Amino acid sequence: MALIVQKYGGSSVADTESIKRVAKRVVETEKKGNKVAVVVSAMGDTTDDLIDQALSIDSNPPEREMDMLMTAGERISMSLLAMAIHAEGSRAHSFTGQQAGFFTDARYGAAHIKAVRPDRVKNALSLGDIAIVAGFQGINAKGDATTLGRGGSDTSAVALAVALGADICEIYTDVDGIFTADPRIVPSARRIPSIDYESILEMASCGSKVLALRCVEYAQRFNMPLHVRSSFSRRPGTLVVPDGIDPRALPNLD
Ligand code: ASP
Ligand code: MG
Repeated sequence: MALIVQKYGGSSVADTESIKRVAKRVVETEKKGNKVAVVVSAMGDTTDDLIDQALSIDSNPPEREMDMLMTAGERISMSLLAMAIHAEGSRAHSFTGQQAGFFTDARYGAAHIKAVRPDRVKNALSLGDIAIVAGFQGINAKGDATTLGRGGSDTSAVALAVALGADICEIYTDVDGIFTADPRIVPSARRIPSIDYESILEMASCGSKVLALRCVEYAQRFNMPLHVRSSFSRRPGTLVVPDGIDPRALPNLD
């Protein structure tokens, strides 16, 4: 039995039909005999829409209230996904960043994770439930909600995977992994089946943005294998693995 953390980005949970599709995939992974914790982003353009709403009220809104607002997006997707999993006949529990034990520094809008103590997530998993965690958020020492910066859910997923001692962190997006160039612009671009952290960090510093830089650095620091793949297809994606690890030995590759 493997312990798998799956992260679904905003395009994978853009509407309720997509959320139902994701629920089926999560349940399928569980039915194969794995323990599954899921990290979700906000649905589609929710985060941008929340920012627009705030700015239409005040061009310089208070940072604390801004983070309070932004964490709402991931709460919507986490609870809807938990409901969709229930509708599929499995048990799921959703947790905010705070409930999942994400402690950050005080920088609103660009907080750094200081510690992850996911006791409630561990407890849910040990009871045989699927745990759903809101990405991109935590709390500061005052107990106020903080966000990790745009695209921060990837980092939440890797941090949770590390704290749980997961076997792999799967990052689900709308492309089949990482390519040698943008396949929408360069038709001859090839999917990279497996790559090391260093090379991904080089690509990211050259402007390629499949994964947030901070998430790759976090994974590299703790040797957490990543599988970047599409939630819209069954094809294998790109494995990002430490040197010396045989990627074929990793779980849930099909
Ligand atoms: N919802 C947040 C954003 O759009 C976090 C994320 O998607 O990773 O930036
Ligand atoms: Mg998003």
